[in-house]
Amino acid sequence: MVEKKKVVVFLPKPHKHDYHHAMPLSVLSTTSLIDRSKFDVQVFSATDRYDFESRLLKHAKDAVCFSVSCLTGYQIQNAIDMIQKVRKANPKLPIIWGGWHASILPQQTLESKYADIVVIGQGERTFAELTERLASGKSLRGLQGIAYKDQNKKIVFNKPRPFEDPNNFPPLPVDLINVEDFIDDRDELRELVYITSQGCPFDCGFCAEPLVFKRMWKGLSAKRVGEDLQKLVKKHDVGFVTFSDDNFFVSEKRVQEICKEIIKRNLNIKWGRVNGRTRQLINMKKETWELMRKSGCADILVGAESGMQEGLDLINKMTSIEDTVKLIELAREYDIEITPSLMVGLPFPSYKQAKSEAERNAITEKELNAILDMLDQAYPTKDYFEVLLFVFTPYPGNPLFQKSIDLGFKPPKKLEEWAFFDIEQQNLPWISDELYGKVQQLMDFIFPYSCNKYLQRHAKGLKPIHWIFHKTALFRWKHRFFAFPIEHKLLMLFRNVRSILRR
Ligand code: SF4
Repeated sequence: MVEKKKVVVFLPKPHKHDYHHAMPLSVLSTTSLIDRSKFDVQVFSATDRYDFESRLLKHAKDAVCFSVSCLTGYQIQNAIDMIQKVRKANPKLPIIWGGWHASILPQQTLESKYADIVVIGQGERTFAELTERLASGKSLRGLQGIAYKDQNKKIVFNKPRPFEDPNNFPPLPVDLINVEDFIDDRDELRELVYITSQGCPFDCGFCAEPLVFKRMWKGLSAKRVGEDLQKLVKKHDVGFVTFSDDNFFVSEKRVQEICKEIIKRNLNIKWGRVNGRTRQLINMKKETWELMRKSGCADILVGAESGMQEGLDLINKMTSIEDTVKLIELAREYDIEITPSLMVGLPFPSYKQAKSEAERNAITEKELNAILDMLDQAYPTKDYFEVLLFVFTPYPGNPLFQKSIDLGFKPPKKLEEWAFFDIEQQNLPWISDELYGKVQQLMDFIFPYSCNKYLQRHAKGLKPIHWIFHKTALFRWKHRFFAFPIEHKLLMLFRNVRSILRR
């Protein structure tokens, strides 16, 4: 029997103090076309649920390649740390980068000593062909969808690979992982993450998706989704399925069909945390909303983005503030929660005219107040499930990235520098440290503690303290009062101590 060649793939940690608890869909999917009769595929995700590192390094010793998949930010640092260890174990091992960051900046990625090959865009077929070539020692010339360093360390770009319908690919090779390591808990239900589509046809000005998939979108057929879910749900006793598609609702017909599959197969699940766009959702038929409710849709994550029309237009969101409010009211009729995801600190051209820090702060304050006003309108009784608020972060390559440079943002110039580029620590000339503090206070304290649903779900025990926090959060929200955030600091101190004690 011929010995199989080893391929090792790794999904690095998302944040310094965070591990993956969800299935590593991106890396699993890129291994789906590899010929398993010839290759021993080893998939690892940075998790704290088992000792992945020693196993990974053991397999890397005699592998034909080591591959990492990263978003911009800390994942890059974690990937580099692992590559350094892998190189010690196997110095000549080709290092492959995939994922959004390397797909958007392949040249810069390959200029780093930590990268030999970049898989650009959709990776399934490219990665399978690449492993064949590496295993047989053939040249990488002509292999579509990659850039690489040749023998003289010259960076070579091959032709891009056309986007392919994921229905051509086999089901996710979940046998490559222990699925039980990636079951999470969602309101006391066993939660599993699954993906039903690739790409997105829109081009929001801050998003990396249009750069990677060139505004292409393809969804798995409803039958295929139904079959996959049936196997996973029954085998692992799953009660909640999170669909991690970038845009689940591109085809309303397909949404209806998926709902019908879930109902027909008696899956008896809740599903949600699914991304959608405001306009798409409010234009959906009543019949679709009914089917979603009936099939167990619990919540939808909506890129509401801004409380100002000027902000939505800057992003090219093709919607309005009224639409966002209308959507939240509409979903309420079907007992479906909308989780709005919002940003503050967008790179408005008006910052150019601002002559002082006070004038710049006035612009961000107006933006933040507009968000709170919109939330007041949409949730007069604060009956939301969750609200997400971020400080705008200029990710490479999109239109708002360029606008940020025009306002004085100095982007990292090397792969290694992007590793320290994070959502929580930016140096954007128009954004004050105070704004980061306010957003943190809203996310950690004011939004959750203003919401009765949050208190019912999470605030168990110590009832008098939660009551005081609840009243204080409501007061702060009502009066837009962020100074002296003593309760927020106390809460963070408590959480830090608790996490140290649990280690
Ligand atoms: S709809 Fe979502 S995934 Fe699509 S471009 Fe906009 S932000 Fe990106």
